[in-house]
Amino acid sequence: MPPLIAKVVVDLALNREFDYRVPEALADQVRPGSRVTVPFGRRMAQGYVVGLTDHSDRLHLKEIHSLVTKLPLLTDRLLELTRWMARYYVCPVELCVKTALPEVVRKARISWKEREFARPGNLAGVDWDKLRRRAPKQAQVLELLQREGGLFVARICEQLKTDHATIKRLAAKGWIILTDRIEERDPFGGEVFLPTEPLPLNPAQQHALDLCQQAIDEAAKARPGLNGSGLPRPVLIHGVTGSGKTEVYLQAIAHCLHSGRGCIVLVPEISLTPQTVERFRARFPNQTIAVLHSHLSAGERHDQWHKIRQGQAHIVIGARSAVFAPVPSLGLIVVDEEHETSYKQEEAPRYNARDVAVVRARLEGAAVVLGSATPSLESYYNAQRGRYRLAELPERVDNKKMPLIRIVDMRQEAQRQKGVHVLSNRLYQAIRDRLDRREQVILFLNRRGYATHCFCPKCGHVMKCPQCSIALTYHRRDQRLLCHLCQHQQPAPSACPNPDCRDPAIRYAGMGTEKVETAIQTAFPHARVQRMDTDALQRKNLYREILREFRQGKIDILVGTQMIAKGLHFPNVTLVGIIYADMALHLPDFRAGERTFQLLVQVAGRAGRGDIEGEVIVQSFTPFHPAIQFARQHDYRGFYEQEIEFREQLRYPPITRMVLLTVRSRNEEKAHFIARALAKDLATRLTGQPALLSEVVPAPLARIEGWYRFQIVARSENILALTAAVHDTLQGQRWPEGVTVQVDVDPISLL
Ligand code: ADP
Ligand code: ZN
Repeated sequence: MPPLIAKVVVDLALNREFDYRVPEALADQVRPGSRVTVPFGRRMAQGYVVGLTDHSDRLHLKEIHSLVTKLPLLTDRLLELTRWMARYYVCPVELCVKTALPEVVRKARISWKEREFARPGNLAGVDWDKLRRRAPKQAQVLELLQREGGLFVARICEQLKTDHATIKRLAAKGWIILTDRIEERDPFGGEVFLPTEPLPLNPAQQHALDLCQQAIDEAAKARPGLNGSGLPRPVLIHGVTGSGKTEVYLQAIAHCLHSGRGCIVLVPEISLTPQTVERFRARFPNQTIAVLHSHLSAGERHDQWHKIRQGQAHIVIGARSAVFAPVPSLGLIVVDEEHETSYKQEEAPRYNARDVAVVRARLEGAAVVLGSATPSLESYYNAQRGRYRLAELPERVDNKKMPLIRIVDMRQEAQRQKGVHVLSNRLYQAIRDRLDRREQVILFLNRRGYATHCFCPKCGHVMKCPQCSIALTYHRRDQRLLCHLCQHQQPAPSACPNPDCRDPAIRYAGMGTEKVETAIQTAFPHARVQRMDTDALQRKNLYREILREFRQGKIDILVGTQMIAKGLHFPNVTLVGIIYADMALHLPDFRAGERTFQLLVQVAGRAGRGDIEGEVIVQSFTPFHPAIQFARQHDYRGFYEQEIEFREQLRYPPITRMVLLTVRSRNEEKAHFIARALAKDLATRLTGQPALLSEVVPAPLARIEGWYRFQIVARSENILALTAAVHDTLQGQRWPEGVTVQVDVDPISLL
């Protein structure tokens, strides 16, 4: 038998892996994700195993000393999932293991927080009258403890305004007993919620729930595994905004819990608001609900994760990486807003949590429910081909009407107003109406800053980023030019930087949210206007604060980027304006139409969620583009059918599957050379296969942060054959110094 060798990341030197021999006695127990003690230099250190192998380049290996805990961090099935990811996403398995385990868990620097806890002791001998007279504080502490049973000492001191000396005296007399107890860091600070009951469902919801329940029951009886059997198909719920999808999820979760199994609910990071979590807590008041998202402190994340691993939380709500939550006996994964691009991780492993959820469910014998008002073409195509089961919720609950969408042709408007202005006459009037009626308005533009480029009208010089191949955006408040790719900044020039020109009449063109905010404030000087984009949100929690003020009616008009397009629910918003709908349409990406359609429908969904009917005004220079016209009719099906035909003709996903290779270097020649060599090699490996391989081309963003980027796009109907060929091409290659190759399987952006 070949020696078993473990690759270990030691806490003392986190950026490197070291090889250790696994002693025979531990061979069955050491696994990726195990925490181990190893000799390191002259001392012992802790670390965790990221991979196992049977050979090492080093001759003399030290042995792993011992295992730290018996319970491995990764369950067998999660381990299998990471192996699948490594194959599918063409990525080292160590990286997948790292992705599946939060950093605080891997490095184990943080542990449970233990604090002093007091319980009542033997109170038989207490002379209460005397104590109340002589030491009233001590008496109060005892009374409090008798009432509460037990409390953290810090809480007692805070509540009774007393100090530790009082507690010590009581402990010395044996009247209270002090122990250390784990105090869980609760991101909700122990808020209490009013419980809610399941609502009686309408027929469409009931049908959706039936499919979910069937899937949950079938999954429980199936033989799990990548090639398992009896596994149910994923359920896709296509329901317009406000059609009651969340209510269906809640009842499906109840069914799953009832059968003794746990659930994961994935939501996009941006919709993971306290209101979202509150809805789940209110429905399941007796359940511990764990929450995983990127704003948790390390301590909170540690506690949430271990609580899940130890089987104390049966419902997990989280963003992308919660798909790896170690829920024992998993019965259901819900992926809300399944079309969201934030489910895709933009660094290796470039996984999509929705797709990983489908595979994890197979491995665990769980059901998957995907939901969206605008399903991705991929998922809807799967439903059309019978791979997913489809439930449609075509109407809003209580038959509330979908908001009316009006399109304003900005070409005509530009003629009438003699130039392009932020507001068309129609949108201006509509805002004024709302202000008069004390209703609220959301204005949407998917670009930050004031002007999108800045140029000299005399010599034509455009201010570009010195590192990237894009123009700099003008931010007026800070009087700076900013690169939105690499964050490069420079002061706004007072004259043309071209030494032969130096003309002082710099012009600014294109618009961003900052300009919209200024224009609105000028047009409506008495309105309370607030901008919401990442520039405005430098301060932590400002996002929540702004949303709270908006909800309370302290803001009349909210101007923002896609940040405000998602899942928010404001009953008093009766007008949504989309300043420039064409923004995403002209990106060089085959999904431009799909993105635009999704965005318009999602943004429109923000209007009229209360009792008053909503109106949406869309300003566009290409008002007859199908993405805009279908969105206007709220016609997903119509959009899908014409879009899938276009994908069919051009053999784009979801008809084919795609792998994007990006070769990067600071040296343009080198990057180009390697990319061509790679493409040639890949072409050889793909001969005889029905695969399509593009030429080597500069990426649409040809240069970012000084890195030149060349792309190869490969497509095939057989993704596994394609990724296998890519894997073989890259296997064992050593790129010249300063060249990196990125693999993106099922890319969502080709920029
Ligand atoms: P979605 O998730 O599709 O946007 P929600 O589940 O949030 O929709 O439902 C929208 C609103 O309608 C919520 O306030 C919800 O409580 C309510 N609702 C959902 N289903 C029902 C139902 N069957 N009867 C009455 N109200 C419902
Ligand atoms: Zn830049």
